[in-house]
Amino acid sequence: MINNLEDTYRHKGLRARLVGELVQKGINDKEVLNAIGSIPRHLFIDRSFIKFAYQDKAFPIGAGQTISQPFTVAFQTQQLEINKNDKVLEVGTGSGYQASVLVCMGARVFSIERQPELFTRTKELLNALGYRLRHFLGDGYKGLPNYAPFDKIIVTAGAPFIPKELLSQLSVGGIMIIPVGDKKQVMTKIKRLSVDEFEKQEFGSCAFVPMLSGVENK
Ligand code: SAH
Repeated sequence: MINNLEDTYRHKGLRARLVGELVQKGINDKEVLNAIGSIPRHLFIDRSFIKFAYQDKAFPIGAGQTISQPFTVAFQTQQLEINKNDKVLEVGTGSGYQASVLVCMGARVFSIERQPELFTRTKELLNALGYRLRHFLGDGYKGLPNYAPFDKIIVTAGAPFIPKELLSQLSVGGIMIIPVGDKKQVMTKIKRLSVDEFEKQEFGSCAFVPMLSGVENK
């Protein structure tokens, strides 16, 4: 069931305040800030947490998963250096919020989710909100070889290692942002410099739900 899709002045005011907070925390990509300022985040989270939608916090979205903290979404997106029409692969659609930020910035988004329940619910919400993307139920470790290469790849679950398949699906000149590690992760940015050369940059530590293999089958 989809929440009531209402987006009020109060929600807009709270969003403007959140954007101000992100600027103070160092986010300066105007397109990222504009997307976060326009997307009704309160519609992507569990109804019982609706009051907290515009705090800079992660929240449960059901099926044991979370919607990432706005700062994390903003930081990862800013590191991707998005250009209009970039072809972007997202691993871990979850609530669809991060994917919507990318769509709002003019990217062509391909997003994979491994949990059927979340996949179905999010598909319905994104359709209702009019955010257009290609959305797949599958295992993000494999990427989407039929649609590769991608200009940018964003992984939004904690990956125990950097999957080779994803590296191979990155265009030369492309950028991947991925949290790498088991319990805690290190936010890692990878640039593909040539067919066989990659440049790695590491940022601070973060905590994501784990990237699991295979499609969930209950
Ligand atoms: N980007 C999301 C954050 C979701 S949390 C948002 O904006 O809400 C991470 C998501 O990754 C969860 O939904 C989890 O089910 C999914 N996930 C974990 N391992 C995966 C895999 N191997 N392939 C695809 N999705 C995966």
